Amino acid sequence: MSYSHALRCRECGREYPLDPIFSCEFCFGPLEVAYDYEAIAANTTRESIEAGPTTLWRYANLLPCDVDYKVDIGTGFTPLIKADRLAKAVGLDTLWVKNDTVNPTWSFKDRVVSVAIARARQFGFEAMACASTGNLANSVAAHSAAAGMDCFVFIPDDLEQGKVVGSGIYDPTLVMIEGSYDDVNRLCTEVASVRPWAFVNINVRPYYAEGSRTLGFEIAEQLGWRTPDHVVSPMASGSLYTKIWKGFQEFHKVGLIDEPKTRMSGAQAAGCSPIATAYEAGTLNFVPQKPNTIARSLAIGNPADGYYALKTMEETKGGAEMVTDDEIVEGIKLLAETEGIFAETAGGVTVACLKKMVESGHIARDEESVAVITGGGLKTIEAVADKVSEPLRIPARLEDFDSALAARDERVLTPAGA
Ligand SMILES: *Cc1c(COP(=O)(O)O)cnc(C)c1O
Ligand SMILES: [Zn+2]
Repeated sequence: MSYSHALRCRECGREYPLDPIFSCEFCFGPLEVAYDYEAIAANTTRESIEAGPTTLWRYANLLPCDVDYKVDIGTGFTPLIKADRLAKAVGLDTLWVKNDTVNPTWSFKDRVVSVAIARARQFGFEAMACASTGNLANSVAAHSAAAGMDCFVFIPDDLEQGKVVGSGIYDPTLVMIEGSYDDVNRLCTEVASVRPWAFVNINVRPYYAEGSRTLGFEIAEQLGWRTPDHVVSPMASGSLYTKIWKGFQEFHKVGLIDEPKTRMSGAQAAGCSPIATAYEAGTLNFVPQKPNTIARSLAIGNPADGYYALKTMEETKGGAEMVTDDEIVEGIKLLAETEGIFAETAGGVTVACLKKMVESGHIARDEESVAVITGGGLKTIEAVADKVSEPLRIPARLEDFDSALAARDERVLTPAGA
């Protein structure tokens, strides 16, 4: 049972049946799932959601697939943590961290894949596939393994080891492309047209994209059925960022929350910032870029939802910011040292952009904010491996520990040159 009834073109509004298709035959606009919101409202209450499973399947009434086809490895309903120490460090009164690092494959991509694979199985596909900057490959490989399906994942050849092994361990056919994500995506679009596979972010992208709304649903539910003043989310294709906002609006549409007034702000790395650059230039039309950043998970130079992300910024009076690789590392460290959460580079982008937006006055001190932390740090160890303090290496003797500690304190108290 699902309350989705059609795919609808985001540009011209033409409707299509719920098939594995992704663009409009008339205007080439992207297709989006349409729902019967009245039926959802009639069958969904705060109480019915609260009585559901502690995964994203608690929002089954709002998902475009039949739950009987779900592959449930425990995705979603991740903690929303009151981040008082980080709030103080960046200059906010109230800040929450949505910690999506604790998903089954340690990134928010488990949300989109959960929905895509359920719908793919409902369609009768026997193989899953994707074009990925790393995290998506991990998640598609894991969910396919759990479903006993064939799996083909395509990644650029410059990814972190944690993301390469993090796919390989589930034994998919792992294809490394000599090129950028945008090259990977171009090849996969060709492969998808000739192979009978469900490419989660190509031919089943409309369903996949809906999975990101659950992050918005959870923020609203976990705040006590209300939305925050400001959300800061990382942007690669721009899909997650736009879908958090869509999730808030839909929760209002089905009567679960008041009208959302949230300002939505997006975060990018300076080395791949087509959306943030267009925002700064005051245009809705971004110019594609050739990525060069340690934030590989966000390194999409030609973002599929860039235009819609820029529209969302306009609609919500939000904005966008970008930060350098050094600032990304500082952001990772700041989140770890204040809140005990180890994020990957995308998390560093979010925290560093949040900090910058408070400093610039774009986010006011009294705006209750949520920082969306989308992936775990053990996958991008390379980014910080030589940026953490050296261990004290000693023989297993008490006097060696005492003298090593004294020497360390000496160094800390009287830095060289002081
Ligand atoms: C994929 C990804 C994002 C953003 O993805 P969109 O393409 O913008 O939806 C953010 N953070 C991490 C860690 C990701 O892997
Ligand atoms: Zn159209």
